Amino acid sequence: MLEGPEDVCVDQVSDFWAGGSVESCPVCLEEEMVTRRLRKCGHLIGEECLAQQLKSRVPNRYNCVLCRAYFLDDYIANET
Ligand SMILES: [Zn+2]
Ligand SMILES: [Zn+2]
Repeated sequence: MLEGPEDVCVDQVSDFWAGGSVESCPVCLEEEMVTRRLRKCGHLIGEECLAQQLKSRVPNRYNCVLCRAYFLDDYIANET
């Protein structure tokens, strides 16, 4: 069993990054036009890759790919 809620969307764990495209997304190492900023740690990640990660079934799907911070903590805390 995987821990954590299902169907977490990018809007729940990250904010739109108005700084423009990320030149090298930490996941795919390609340029992505839409960038998201993780609320937990502030790291930038391409929206496509973040969405893919959240939908995946891997155990570390809610961990930042850069610093391994568990970024769902804030989401759960704000659920009340
Ligand atoms: Zn990417
Ligand atoms: Zn991070």
